[in-house]
Amino acid sequence: MEKRAEKRRRIVLVPLPLQGHITPMMQLGQALNLKGFSITVALGELNQVSSSSQHFPGFQFVTILETVPVSQHETLGLVEFLVKLNKTTEASFKNCIAQLLLQQGNDIACIIYDELMYFSEAAAKELKVPSVMFCTGSATNQVCSCILSKLNVEKFLIDMEDPEMQDKVVENLHPLKYKNLPTSGMGPLKPFLDICREVCNKRTASAVIINTTSCLESLSLSWLQQELEIPVYPLGPLHIRASANLSLLEEDRTCIEWLNKKKPRSVIYISFGSIAHMETKELLEMACGLCDSNQPFLWVIRPGSIPGSELLPEEVSKMVSERGYIVKWAPQNDVLAHPAVGGFWSHCGWNSTLESIVEGVPMICRPFNGEQKLNALYIQSVWRIGIQLEGEVERGSVERAVKMLIMDDEGACMRERALGLKEKLKASVGIGGSSYNALDELVNYLETECSTS
Ligand code: UDP
Repeated sequence: MEKRAEKRRRIVLVPLPLQGHITPMMQLGQALNLKGFSITVALGELNQVSSSSQHFPGFQFVTILETVPVSQHETLGLVEFLVKLNKTTEASFKNCIAQLLLQQGNDIACIIYDELMYFSEAAAKELKVPSVMFCTGSATNQVCSCILSKLNVEKFLIDMEDPEMQDKVVENLHPLKYKNLPTSGMGPLKPFLDICREVCNKRTASAVIINTTSCLESLSLSWLQQELEIPVYPLGPLHIRASANLSLLEEDRTCIEWLNKKKPRSVIYISFGSIAHMETKELLEMACGLCDSNQPFLWVIRPGSIPGSELLPEEVSKMVSERGYIVKWAPQNDVLAHPAVGGFWSHCGWNSTLESIVEGVPMICRPFNGEQKLNALYIQSVWRIGIQLEGEVERGSVERAVKMLIMDDEGACMRERALGLKEKLKASVGIGGSSYNALDELVNYLETECSTS
């Protein structure tokens, strides 16, 4: 008699332990856990997140020995850090998975790795464990990585001096133009394109998960589905389903009490995510513009985000004390969901973008690097739910942008469109919606293609 195949029920997650990456990976873990999979999270020995791991009961956390502390991305720059991390971690991750296979009696159905943790593929291939790549950014950003990965550096540099080429639309993906390809803030072009090549080389990965949904990025998703030739699962926004967040910094919840005392839709919330830095001059211009707008504001200023000054300049503290409230780290989803919040001034990281749309909050965009600029382009020109602050930050433009967003008809129209998108996103994760179905298809895929011996 034929031996019945045993189902493997364990998924190993390999997140990049930066806030914007680990958050959606843990949310994906929760979604799969609810579907009956056991979850193991593999983290480098120098990148443990024990303080928050208690929010994920039942998850197993394992340590990858010999890797690189994530703090090095600040000193090395993201590209050099990723090269070093991937080189250093490949062998130790293989050992980690080999040990797990022994301990778990071969129960690993699949390794799901952050696209930037591409070292994971070597272990998956050698130990014959199926693997799936997870993109925590937008589908459009993934398209751009694929396009950049095929470019010749010298030719691209020459092409980009030609204004006609700069304004050429990429692969019919209107409004994406060559000048929007997200290369800025990534250091020298060649190493960055090398990373794009690594990220787009799917190796033995058998599927791709993206934290997006088809109503936001249908063109880019269709492009990817054709290009990658493996299943693509757009099952986001993942945070709608999540019951807990893994916050690497302590959230200051006093800001919710402060918000409770404000009028509906009157407050502008300002946060530039977990990585971006600001110059003192910019900080002062922001503070002046915000005060001149006469609107109340809640401002996240992360410790260390203003190089060279540990304390907030006194002028700023004094200026903001009347109308503003400053925290080091906010419970962002609760803030965006609060009725007092009327707008979000954001650096346009992908998670912040999704979180703002899910709460129907219009945005002021102040992107710092190429990927964020890409998100800002979509916020302003595709979904039309925000405006971009261009050039140097200057108090007059800050005041105008805040007033426009909170008080003018133009801002009201953006809010209306944002609320329309909110409904679409909620429908996409609800029963029968595209993201709901994509999650079911992924589960089916993991159960049939990956989990039988
Ligand atoms: N975040 C938060 N509190 C804050 C600021 C940010 O919880 O005060 C969270 C935010 O909700 C988002 C993440 O940090 O989930 C930032 O990710 P994003 O992709 O927006 O930007 P990154 O930090 O990667 O630049």
